[in-house]
Formats: sequence, C-alpha cells, structure tokens
Amino acid sequence: MQIIHRCGHTQNHEIYGNATSKSSRVAYLKTIDCSTCIRKSQNASAAIINQDADLPALIGTDKQIAWAESIRAKIIREATEYLAKTESYTPASPAEATEIEKIIGAIADLKEKISAAWWITNQYGLKTALKAVLEGK
Ligand SMILES: [Zn+2]
Repeated sequence: MQIIHRCGHTQNHEIYGNATSKSSRVAYLKTIDCSTCIRKSQNASAAIINQDADLPALIGTDKQIAWAESIRAKIIREATEYLAKTESYTPASPAEATEIEKIIGAIADLKEKISAAWWITNQYGLKTALKAVLEGK
C-alpha cells in the first residue's frame, strides 16, 4: 500500500492484520518519515556523534561517507565500551595484559581510519574492524 509520509515522500508498505490494526498502522506510518529519510537522518546524527568524538573527517563519495558515519559511530561506541571495561579490569596474566595493550593500540589506529570504503568493508562490528587493523588492512 502506498503511504505518503510526513517528509512528503511516497513509499510502498506491506500492511498485515485486521482492519483496526491496519488502519492504526497506516495512521502511524503517515506520522513518520519514509525509510530513506530516516536512514539519512540517522547517518547525519552519526556524523555529528563522530565529530563530537573528535574523529577525523572521512573521505569517499557523499553516499559512502553518509553510510560509513553510521558504521563508524556504532563500532567506536563498542570500542569505547571495551576501553571503559579494561580500566577496571586486572589482567589474569602478562600474556593477557599484552593482548589488551595490543587491542588498545589497535583502537587508537581504528580512530584514525578515514576511508569511508574501509569502514563499509569492515562494518561487521568491533572485532572485524580490529582484526583488519591488526592485519594492516
Ligand atoms: Zn522521505
């Protein structure tokens, strides 16, 4: 069913359920932006978060950068959570301490990644991104 969203864009939606739930779903959809506009605004919010976190500007096409900002915001948030955990953690062995130091170093390198294409390639979470950094990719 074609819905005209708040942003003025028309989008097709599959709407299931009985008449009452359908009409409330339709009413709700009319009050929100289309999925393209939602994605755009999420990418824009991510760009602001990354800028506030003093991350460097990305390079790439406008489309790549917009997408990469969302990926980067999510992965950096994971990295920040990891760093916060390590602060109150005592490594069980020297080997583990070395491993943690290596990860902290990789996170610092990760924050310097400015290729939007790199973030898109390594979008599958902190682990994947750190693996790529440690492999020199
Ligand atoms: Zn829209």
